[in-house]
Amino acid sequence: MKLTNTAFGLHWFRRDLRVAGNLALKENWQRHQGRVVGLFCFDSVFLSRDDFSHHRFAFFLNTLESLQKELRSQGSDLLVVDSLAQKTFPQLLKHFKAHGFNLNLVSWGRDYEPFARGRDGEVQKIMQGAGIETIETRDHLVLEPEEVFKEKPGEFYQVYSPFAKKWFAAAHSPEIQKRFKDQQPGLDYLEKLLAGESKKAFQLKWSDVVGKDFPFEDKLKEFKEKNQKQVNIPIPNGGSLEAYKALKDFSLRLKNYKEDRDVPAVNGTSHFSIYLKNGSLTSSQIIQYLKLNHMSFAVENSSARFLKEIVWREFYYHILYHRPDVEKQAFLEKYRKIKWPNDKKLFKHWCEGTTGFPLVDAGMRQLNTTGWMHNRVRMVVSSFLCKDLLIDWSWGENYFMKMLLDGDMAPNNGGWQWAASTGCDPQPYFRIFNPWLQSAKFDPDAEYIKKFVPELEDISAKEIHKPDGDRGQAYPDPIVDHASQKKWALKLYTS
Ligand code: FAD
Repeated sequence: MKLTNTAFGLHWFRRDLRVAGNLALKENWQRHQGRVVGLFCFDSVFLSRDDFSHHRFAFFLNTLESLQKELRSQGSDLLVVDSLAQKTFPQLLKHFKAHGFNLNLVSWGRDYEPFARGRDGEVQKIMQGAGIETIETRDHLVLEPEEVFKEKPGEFYQVYSPFAKKWFAAAHSPEIQKRFKDQQPGLDYLEKLLAGESKKAFQLKWSDVVGKDFPFEDKLKEFKEKNQKQVNIPIPNGGSLEAYKALKDFSLRLKNYKEDRDVPAVNGTSHFSIYLKNGSLTSSQIIQYLKLNHMSFAVENSSARFLKEIVWREFYYHILYHRPDVEKQAFLEKYRKIKWPNDKKLFKHWCEGTTGFPLVDAGMRQLNTTGWMHNRVRMVVSSFLCKDLLIDWSWGENYFMKMLLDGDMAPNNGGWQWAASTGCDPQPYFRIFNPWLQSAKFDPDAEYIKKFVPELEDISAKEIHKPDGDRGQAYPDPIVDHASQKKWALKLYTS
C-alpha cells in the first residue's frame, strides 16, 4: 500500500553499513515508528579513483548485499543507485513531492575523509533548500576529532601517546561510558539475528513510497556481476553478522593478543579491520562486547594492548581530519622534497613479491592473494620500500589501497607516513628495519614465509634468514644489499 501523507524517514548509508547500533538510523526509526528506508549512492568519483580496488569493491558489494538482505528481513529495504548523492537527492525529493510522499527526515553517520566532508556539506544544503530536516551523528569513531583537543583551544594532538592518554581518560567519563553501554541493545539484536530469532522492526519498503516514473532502480546486482569479472582472489562474506561472528571468535583469543599479535604465523589478531572500514562493526561495539571500557593507558596486558591499537586508528582519523593535506603530501614539511630514486623495476619486484627478501615477499604475496597482510609485515614491507628500495612512500600507499580489502585512507596514510618517517609521530628516519633480523625475530621457523613462498618450503629457516643464505635455484637473490641501501637512505633524508 502506498504511504501518502504519513511522515517517513530515509537513512543515507555510506560507511555505516549496519543496522545494529547505528545511532542516526535509530533516531530516524524512533521518530517514524519504524517507517524508514535505506539508500546507498555510488559515486562515480569513488569508482574512478586512482586507488580504486576491484577486490575491496567486491567486499563492499558483499557487505551492501548483506545489509540489503537484513533490512528486507526486518521489514525495510535498501536501494542502491549509481548516481551521486548530490544528484540523487534532488530527483528523489522531486519525486516524493509530486506523488504526495511525506519524506520528513534524512539521517546519516558522519564521515571524516576530505572528499566526504565536501559532499556531505553539499547534501546538507540541498536538504535545507528543500526544507527537509537532517540528522548527522557520530558513527565509526568513539571520540570524534573535534572532541580531542589539547588544553589550548584549536591545538590538536600530533603525537600518539598524549593523544591516547587523553583518549583513555575521556573514555572513563560518564558520557563516553554511556556511548559504550548504548551499544548493548544492538549487540543483543545481533545475537538474536544470529540465532534467527529477531522480530521485524521496520514498517516501510521502497515500494510504499515510489510512484510512477520513479527515476531509479536498484543496481546492486548489476554492480556485482560487472565487478566480479575483475576479481581473482577469494572475497569474504561481508556484513554485520559476519563481523559479529569475528567478534565472538576474537573474544576467545583476546587473552593471547599481547604475545601473539606480532607473530604473523599465528592467528593472533582480530581481523576486524575489513569490517571497521565499512562500518559493519564499530570501535564502540568492540569495546562494549569485549568489556574494554575501563581499561587504563598505564596497563600493559592483552586487553589494553588491543585497545591501544583501536586508539591508533582513532588517532589517524584525528590527524586526517585536522590535516587533510596528508592525503596528498608528507605531514612533515622537511621531508616533502626528498628525491626518491623511484626505480620502477625494483618497485615491480616489491609489488610481485620477488625481491629475494623472504619476509617481504611473503607479505606481498599474502597481500596479492588474500587482500590482507599482517601488521608486523606491513611495517616491514613499507619500511623496505622506502628505506631499502628508496621508493616514494606514496607509491606503496597507493599499491596497498589497490590491494587491501581493509584499505582505509586514514590508517593507511598514517601507516605509510609512519614507516617513511614523514608523518606525525613517525618512526625516526634513522631507524631502519633490518629485514633479515625482522624475519628471524618474528618468523623464527619461517612458517609464515613458507606458507606464502612455496619455493622455500624445503629450505631451512637458518638459510632463509641469512642475507647470503643458500635459498635454492627457484628463489631469487636479494635485489639490493641492505647495508649499502641503508647508507643511501640516510643520505636522502639528510640532504
Ligand atoms: P588488530 O591487531 O586486531 O587491531 C585491531 C584494530 O585496531 C584493527 O582492525 C585496526 O582498526 C586498528 N589498528 C591496529 N593496528 C593499527 C595501526 N598500526 N594503525 C591504525 N590502526 C590500527 N589498517 C587499516 O585498517 N587499513 C589500512 O589501509 C591500513 N594500512 C596500513 C598500512 C601500513 C603501511 C601499516 C604499517 C599499517 C596499516 N594499517 C591499516 C594498520 C594495521 O596494519 C591494520 O589495521 C591491521 O593489520 C588489521 O588487522 P587486524 O584487524 O587483525 O588488527
